[in-house]
Amino acid sequence: MKLIILGKPSSGKGTQAKLLAQKLNLKHISTGDLLRHELKLKTPLAEKVESYMKTGSLVPDSLIIELLKNNLPNDDYILDGFPRSLSQAEELEKIIKIDLVIDLFCEDDLIIKRTIERRICQSCGAIYGLTVPSKVPNVCDKCGSSLYQRPDDNEETIKNRLDVYNNETSPLIDYYKSKDLYFLVDGSLQIPEVQELAMKKIATIK
Ligand code: AMP
Repeated sequence: MKLIILGKPSSGKGTQAKLLAQKLNLKHISTGDLLRHELKLKTPLAEKVESYMKTGSLVPDSLIIELLKNNLPNDDYILDGFPRSLSQAEELEKIIKIDLVIDLFCEDDLIIKRTIERRICQSCGAIYGLTVPSKVPNVCDKCGSSLYQRPDDNEETIKNRLDVYNNETSPLIDYYKSKDLYFLVDGSLQIPEVQELAMKKIATIK
């Protein structure tokens, strides 16, 4: 099964993709995580993408598509953060057949609050924030490592990321509706509720 999780930044894509991947035994492929890994390793690609990521702009298609192709497994997966534009969706269609696109809708004011509050475990990648704060501030409940804030999770950058979403990514809604692959979920619901709605829909395509 090949799934896409779509939505604005901080709509819960990463959290839901991780949960669905665990439940359904899928690989979780996040292009944002792949790019951050490149930055950590200071690879030649990192130099090319750093400025785009800092401002919340999309990195050029040629770079992101190659990165994705190099990291796509043969078995089932859920894509998180890709595609982010019509051109990327068209490229993807040349490579794989998608079974379902789950879109997590949230209003912008909730997105901004969630983004500013978001903290991530530097060791296991667990995500904390407005809905699920860590029990001890800045310490991961799961592994005890310290939490960090993404450099692009600030009020100025999130506004640009929302503009990028509206201009570049939101046309994907009609694109996938026209292909009868689109499923909308209210991303402001609690994490288990979002997951249940997504799981019920996935069960219908299995
Ligand atoms: P994310 O972790 O999905 O919020 O992505 C973080 C940043 O990585 C984005 O703001 C973009 O700069 C870049 N990025 C991630 N995925 C893509 C993509 N599919 N196309 C272009 N840029 C991307």
